[in-house]
Amino acid sequence: MEWTPSPDRYNKMIYNHCGKSGLKLPALSLGLWHNFGEDADHSNKKAICRQAFDLGITHFDLANNYGPPPGSAETAFGRILKEDFSNLRDELVISSKAGYSMWPGPYGEWGSRKYLISSCDQSLKRMGLDYVDIFYSHRFDPNTPLEETMMALDHIVRSGRALYVGISSYNSQRTLEAMAILKELKTPFIIHQPSYSMLNRWIEEDGLVDTLEDAGIGSIVFSPLAQGMLTNKYLKEVPEGSRVTQNSSLKPEFLNEKNLNNIRSLNAVAAQRGQTLAQMAIAWVLRNGRITSALIGASRPEQVVDCAKAIDNLSFTADELAQIDQYAVDASINLWAKSAEL
Ligand code: NAP
Repeated sequence: MEWTPSPDRYNKMIYNHCGKSGLKLPALSLGLWHNFGEDADHSNKKAICRQAFDLGITHFDLANNYGPPPGSAETAFGRILKEDFSNLRDELVISSKAGYSMWPGPYGEWGSRKYLISSCDQSLKRMGLDYVDIFYSHRFDPNTPLEETMMALDHIVRSGRALYVGISSYNSQRTLEAMAILKELKTPFIIHQPSYSMLNRWIEEDGLVDTLEDAGIGSIVFSPLAQGMLTNKYLKEVPEGSRVTQNSSLKPEFLNEKNLNNIRSLNAVAAQRGQTLAQMAIAWVLRNGRITSALIGASRPEQVVDCAKAIDNLSFTADELAQIDQYAVDASINLWAKSAEL
């Protein structure tokens, strides 16, 4: 049976301008890094995407390598688009990226023109799309001239493969350098995608948030729930099937006693505010209007529902922020720190 999305979906979400651009993004966006590979059930993937869209989440974030195996999340999303969203393309903002290892040999990763353009073509094919809304350089490449990477992004826009471009996990200095090149080329560079959460605050220390704000570039922060650590999931035990049990990016050592104690204290602050920890973690990254969108992941539709309620209370008192600061300390979980050091 044909699926009809909720008619009042746009009353349920907040939409923020992405920097000084004309594009608005939902305060919450959905990423398909985990739970959309060949090992996951198609009906659950579909249910997660439907639930997100029904709540006004118009932005879906992908990358060439999401799976497993790499590419399979884009293939699954292409199928969902065809089955459920075929008449809704103009209501969606779909992004993809290239930068990490995708295929063997010297042309399958990093930031060359050769890799970025062919990878973008592969992504479009897998998703069955003519264009993506945003295409990112997924990481800075120290061995390719930045001009080459940025000119490839520019070409991707001018050839109609993408509407806008972004960069991910570049530090503040590299962002300024990229921006200077893209400005000269008049490329629509509107967004940066860094990691950011109460347990990983590198973008504050690096100055990236200030850089983006000064330049009028938007920001979509990934893993605002620290891959699930900032939810009620691990407060008492490690549930079967959770990300930490899957031998993947959420390392068991991240759930050490020190981190768990801070997480439990943050949970108490969330409870005082009448929020779940996930809701407070999302509200916190969006707290002062400097971040355009919080980019979450989900393994079940119910998690999207829980997270989306974050927008019901995005303001914090000075006292709450001071309490949070005591426990919102670096948890050594930033897997992308190396990219920002290059
Ligand atoms: P996250 O939102 O920090 O973590 C998502 C995980 O948290 C879910 O898979 C689920 O874990 C758990 N969760 C979510 N909502 C919950 C709730 N309400 N209650 C309990 N648990 C909940 O984000 P992420 O998945 O790490 O990353 C989000 C997106 O960011 C990715 O899909 C991708 O698009 C993007 N990203 C980009 C980069 C980059 O380099 N640019 C890197 C990483 C991620 P379980 O699966 O255990 O249920």
